[in-house]
Amino acid sequence: MKLPQFRHTARIAIEDVRLQTALENATGRFRSAREKALAELPASGELRDHLKAIRSATLARLAEHLETFERNATANGTQVHWARDAAEARQTVLDIAQQHGVELAAKSKSMTTEEIGLNRALEQAGIRAVETDLGEWIVQLAGEPPSHIIAPAIHKTKEQVSALFEREAGRPIGVDIPTLTAEARRMLREKFLAAGMGISGGNLAVAETGSIVLVTNEGNGRMVTSLPKVHVAVIGIEKIAPTWDQAAAWLALLARSATGQPLSIYTSIITGPARPGDPDGPREVHIILLDNGRSKLLGTPYEEALQCIRCGACLNVCPVYREAGGHAYGSPYSGPIGAVISPLLFGQQNYAALPQASSLCGACLEVCPVRIDLPRLLLELRKEAVERGIFPSRRERWAERLAANALEDAGRMRKAAALLRWGQKPFARGGRVRLPGALHPAGDRDLPALAARSFREMWEKGEFDQ
Ligand code: SF4
Repeated sequence: MKLPQFRHTARIAIEDVRLQTALENATGRFRSAREKALAELPASGELRDHLKAIRSATLARLAEHLETFERNATANGTQVHWARDAAEARQTVLDIAQQHGVELAAKSKSMTTEEIGLNRALEQAGIRAVETDLGEWIVQLAGEPPSHIIAPAIHKTKEQVSALFEREAGRPIGVDIPTLTAEARRMLREKFLAAGMGISGGNLAVAETGSIVLVTNEGNGRMVTSLPKVHVAVIGIEKIAPTWDQAAAWLALLARSATGQPLSIYTSIITGPARPGDPDGPREVHIILLDNGRSKLLGTPYEEALQCIRCGACLNVCPVYREAGGHAYGSPYSGPIGAVISPLLFGQQNYAALPQASSLCGACLEVCPVRIDLPRLLLELRKEAVERGIFPSRRERWAERLAANALEDAGRMRKAAALLRWGQKPFARGGRVRLPGALHPAGDRDLPALAARSFREMWEKGEFDQ
């Protein structure tokens, strides 16, 4: 996302009062629930250190753990596929769907399938993909992407949700939340039963047993992975826990950091297709291990970003995300972690604006269960953008040169201040100046107006003498 585009989308979001209320309510609830859940967990600080050590050691030997995972998953009857990029992952899903003549696929929430643009690819191949996570379904009905890693419809009010459901059902439903959820359940149940394929992500993959773990709060993940005859899971290669002991530490912090729950309502462990005699379960399980730019981060200053467990806690505390919301980022991944991984995975040229959208306050580092140093990563990306000539822009360079020239010499500084004092007059209101974007190198924003007289002028006139 280019800087002017980000400024434009962020400005629209900031001026949307309904969005601001929805964001503040939801992120506020998540923040206090997380704080309470971690306060109740004995030695949560040590557990976070432990998880950091686990994630870091796993990434140091990632290839080995992935091979163990593949071996054990294959022994369970799972078919493991490798995808170098989004196109390969999409094609693998399409091939499996076409082999089975799938016309309808039921999906459970998955950021990885958002990342590869799977829904559109399925649609273009004539396969209808229905999101079954309530939040994902809401944004799908609205024709929007998710705006939060764990709460895709965080920006929607119940009135907006009701309007979408009424349009889908073709009759009035109202705004009572239990009625809305019951209605969603009724409409989605038909899809679970009719779907020829279930598609999910995976919160983590456990190498020692070749299993994947799915955490959900609505039970739709279980339906998606057990009712259709074929289950396909798309999971990033970095989401590996070598052992169940390590997976336990991961799970102990995931839901607490995300929603403040000790565990999410459903923690599903999938270890291969249905065995002979099983009353239900898919006949085939396929796991697609997605690279899409991850492996090239190993061994670089950005490797730490791969430790992320996608809890969303950094979004809820970020002053930029809380004002701008997820859509302003123009990427499946928003907030501080999105500002780091979007340029890394999808190209710095395309997302160079996002690392600039941070005050570097450090709130994200404070809450991250893996203690990922997001401010450091943002600074690394900014540095790289400068080295590659993406920033500063010609206008910013010009403004910096002018400022340096004035600051070097007291006489020039005095003249520049006098000129600015005169020039600000048409834009000054109530002690603030709002320059239009074209005249302001950092975009349009309020600045304090220059005082009528400088400190130096007052000093020279002896106004500070006793
Ligand atoms: S960076 Fe940390 S806080 Fe943000 S989503 Fe990832 S694990 Fe959670």
